[in-house]
This record gives sequence, C-alpha cells and structure tokens, in this order.
Amino acid sequence: MVTLTKEEVERRLGSVACAVCKQSSFAIDDRSMGSDGEWRGICRACFYTFPVHTDVEFYLRTQPDVPLRLKEISCTACNHQGVTLDFRATLSVREAYYFVTCRGCHRQFPEKSFLEAYE
Ligand SMILES: [Zn+2]
Ligand SMILES: [Zn+2]
Repeated sequence: MVTLTKEEVERRLGSVACAVCKQSSFAIDDRSMGSDGEWRGICRACFYTFPVHTDVEFYLRTQPDVPLRLKEISCTACNHQGVTLDFRATLSVREAYYFVTCRGCHRQFPEKSFLEAYE
C-alpha cells in the first residue's frame, strides 16, 4: 500500500476546483490526520472544508463495483485502461473525485466519481 503524504495530497487536490469559490489551492488540516484515514481538506481561498478519504483499502473492500470501474478508466495521456485509486475527496454532495494513477505511464489525474454521478 502506498503511504500518502500531506504534501502529495495537497498538491494533487490542486487539480480540481473548490466547490464554493472554484479556486484550486488546498491544504490538509494537520489535526484531522487520524489513523482512520479521514482527513480534512481546506480551501486556502475561502476556507471551505471537505472530507478527504485516504482509507482506500477499506473503501475498495466495501464497494465491490469500484475496482471494476477502475479497470475501465482510460488514461487521457497514453490510453492505457486501468488505474490505481490513491485517495478520494468529496468536494460537495454532488462532486466527489477519485485521485488515480495510470498503471501504464504513471500519470496522476483526478476522475470524477461515477457513484455520485449516477445518483
Ligand atoms: Zn474555496
Ligand atoms: Zn497513462
């Protein structure tokens, strides 16, 4: 299992926009980084907070559909199909993102969550 660092999560959150102010600069609240894998992201512009879920192994075990969908996601750079889920962030009720890594070229990119999209 890949161990995520606060800096890496902050950097990768910068590839999506804040649900409130649409800026793309985020911090992780240090105090929220407990052992349960539930971190809190904060927008640096408007201080909106949202949950960041780093409990990927547990999530994949409880959501059997998700690993199947991850195999279907195509990388926009190399067209390789199949990505690894690194962490998730729920920016709003309607907007959740999977932060994934392409298994072909190792490009990292956000993929809008398909579960929420089909509500
Ligand atoms: Zn904001
Ligand atoms: Zn790729």
